[in-house]
Formats: sequence, structure tokens, C-alpha cells
Amino acid sequence: MTRNRILPIFVPHRGCPHQCVFCDQRTISGCHRPVTAADVTRMLTEALPLSGQGIEVAFYGGSFTAIPAEQQQELLDAVEPFLQTGAVASVRVSTRPDAITPEALECLRRGGVCTVELGCQSMDDVVLNASGRGHGREVVAPAVALLRQYGFSVILQMMTGLPEQTDKSALETAHALAALQPDGVRLYPTVVVRGTVLAERYADGSYRPQTLEEATALGAELLELFLHHAIPMLRIGLQPSEELAQSVVAGPYHPALGELVKSRVYRNRAQVLLETVPPGSDVVLAVAPNRISLMTGQKRCNVHWLRQRYGLHSLRIVPEPMEDWEIRLQSSESLDKINR
Ligand code: SF4
Repeated sequence: MTRNRILPIFVPHRGCPHQCVFCDQRTISGCHRPVTAADVTRMLTEALPLSGQGIEVAFYGGSFTAIPAEQQQELLDAVEPFLQTGAVASVRVSTRPDAITPEALECLRRGGVCTVELGCQSMDDVVLNASGRGHGREVVAPAVALLRQYGFSVILQMMTGLPEQTDKSALETAHALAALQPDGVRLYPTVVVRGTVLAERYADGSYRPQTLEEATALGAELLELFLHHAIPMLRIGLQPSEELAQSVVAGPYHPALGELVKSRVYRNRAQVLLETVPPGSDVVLAVAPNRISLMTGQKRCNVHWLRQRYGLHSLRIVPEPMEDWEIRLQSSESLDKINR
């Protein structure tokens, strides 16, 4: 599936009926004033010469379908001339699962929207309640069904490390979301952003964020789960920015969290292959050429960790024409000797 380049236009907190405890979209997006239709026209006019034809405009950072209908219409109308010329190929919006109604979807369809991203965050009512979401898990499946009925592509977003959320709860959420067969998912481990309710809870000791290691290990389990269901994971972790980095009080913020998680999937898969390799072996693992750095890990951390864990004499990673995520134990000198 080829994907158009996405041009994000942030509408921070527009339409949000509740203030989720972890969320400060103004800091996350770097956008501090309401976006108008004139802003949309200006942004598109400026961006298109750099972006070329066929980009996808994405209204992110708010609950788009919960914005008053006439304001939604104004924003979508501003994109319309660019859709007419083909400069913009399609539009996507992000919103809440309890703000999906036939009327809202009619409006989106008229405005050229093809994809809707739903911030589900968790399918555990205890977690949703502790996060101040203002809706329960029961709204998600009907929202996805209605989006499908109207022909939209559906992307589901989930979080880890939310208040009251255990790893088991996050895995159950992933299973529940995978069962809805979305076109893709996004994974956002919770970071504590200054000025949020969560920052207060962190300060008074009533909330403990995930460590980077915990977020990476759980993220790898979740990525495996979605890979198993052939559901693309489109993003892991918040888009890094200078402003966000300065506003993060605690939690697993890392500018390359997605790479860390993918690299951990490779390490986990390599472990399965190395279980039968005797200590002292000289091992060669093959992966696809564009996956060498993920298998090797940042600062060769996977190579060092695997060598130590299995007592290997050496471990080399080599490129081979293979599928993404595939790893082959190409040779192990000690195994070869045993097999001779
Ligand atoms: S998480 Fe979504 S619904 Fe909640 S405040 Fe942020 S943008 Fe609004």
C-alpha cells in the first residue's frame, strides 16, 4: 500500500468535551492558537510547492467530529480547492470514538475525508476512567462499524503506561483493537507533560510512569501482536520536537522510541533462534539489508546483549534478500561442528 505524504494541521483540543489527564495538545503539537480556515489556506499554499502533488492533509490534535458542524465545514471547505486541483489527494482527521455519528460522517464524506483516526487509548474502563476520557470501551466497536459502513479507512490509536493500566490491560486492549481489523494502529506510551493533571499526580507520587525499558519491552510485545494480525503499526511514540522535549517531566520520552521498539522485536526474535546455540559459538544472523541497523541495535546494543546472554564467541549480522522482520540463523560454527 503506497501512502501519501501527510501534512499535519493541528487543531489542539478543538471539540474535546473533556480534558484527558495526560494531554496537552498545545505543547505536543507546538500550536498555541486556534487554527482558522484562512490559516489552512495559507499553510497549504506555502506547503504545496515543497510537497508536490497528492499530499494528504491531516487535522490532528483535537476531536474533529465534535467541533461545531459549521466550523468543521469551514476547515474542510478551505481544503476543497486543493482537492479540486489534485494538489491534495485526500484528508484525514483524528477524533474520539464517542463522537462518531451518521451526521458527522456525512459531513466528513462531503469534505473529502478518507481516513478517520480514533483515539481509543484503552479498552479497559478502569483505565479510561482514571485517564479522564469521559467514555467507556463500549463506544469503540460501534464507532468502527459505522466508519466502515461509510467507507472510511480506520486507524486506531492506543496508549500504554496510562493511570491504572497494567501490561496485561494494554495487551488486552491490543487484542480487542486487532479484532476490529483497523487499517493501521498508532502506539503512544504515556509521557508526563508539564501542566497536565498527570504531572500533578506524578509530583504527589500517585502516578508512576513507565520507564523507557518498560515502554520498549511492552511496545515490542504489542508490535508483535499487530504484526501477527498483519495490521501495520504506523507510529510508535510522540513526534519529537524541541518544545515537547522541554515540557516532558517524566516518562519514556525518546526521539527514536519507534526504532527502540522495532529493534527489541528483532532481539526477541533472535533469542528464539539462539536458544539452541552452544556457548562459545561464532554466529551469523541474516536480515533484510534495510533492517541491519534494527537487528544490530543502537550502539550495537542488541549484538552486545545477545553475545553476553548466550555466551557467544562472536555474532555477525549480514544482509540477505529477505522479508522484513525475518531473521535467519545463517551459520553457527559450533552447531556446524555438532552437525558434522
Ligand atoms: S486525548 Fe484527545 S480527546 Fe483527550 S484532550 Fe487530548 S485531543 Fe482531546
